Amino acid sequence: CGIVGYIGARQAVEVIVDGLTRLEYRGYDSAGVAVNTGGEIIIQKKKGRLLLLEENLKENPIKGNMGIGHTRWATHGEPSDENSHPHSNESCSIAVVHNGIIENYLEIKRELQEKGVVFKSETDTEVISHLIDSYYDGDLLDALYKTLKRIRGAYALGVIHKNQPDVLIAARKDSPLVIGVGEGENFIASDIPALLKYTKNVYLLEDGDVAVLTKNSVEIFDLKKNKISKNLTE
Ligand code: GLU
Repeated sequence: CGIVGYIGARQAVEVIVDGLTRLEYRGYDSAGVAVNTGGEIIIQKKKGRLLLLEENLKENPIKGNMGIGHTRWATHGEPSDENSHPHSNESCSIAVVHNGIIENYLEIKRELQEKGVVFKSETDTEVISHLIDSYYDGDLLDALYKTLKRIRGAYALGVIHKNQPDVLIAARKDSPLVIGVGEGENFIASDIPALLKYTKNVYLLEDGDVAVLTKNSVEIFDLKKNKISKNLTE
């Protein structure tokens, strides 16, 4: 299972698929990408090998310079197109990729369903996209922090919002995630090999860290939303 995210000037799909290919050794049962095409989030995801997703992407290309991708190792919900990541909300304004397990997802899912939220998958992950949606009022970072307060378990996360095409947010707790730093472009990935083609400079996130990436900056915050400074690792 793996996560790759990109924000910069290249075509995001190319970087993401290339990175996910380099994470194939981790094992997976499905794969998907979400790209902000400039005010709209387009998702393609598929059960099976990355090659199947790549074929789909050749037939239906997604153009855009920022996005997130995922290879899934199913823990909640069988391997299927619907259960593949990225996951979204009803209006498809948000996309989320997640490695790990949300332990209290059922109680959150029931609570959201009682409010009328319609779920499309059996995954634990989907509660995250709906929670972010319920908290979002123009500030994605704030909505993510409110969401992180609600969930228990392990996560590496990549999150994007259609109204914030210049921001990619990442978070980690008990699942690996690194930030790759380039020139005029930045990356997230589960592991360094996914990024070596593009950069050798990385920030190693620790548990509780949240990172806000633009193409020209990386800011890292702790669980209490205090900004922290980290050394770049080469
Ligand atoms: N628990 C999530 C799921 O089953 C994420 C699995 C993973 O780490 O790939 O969809």
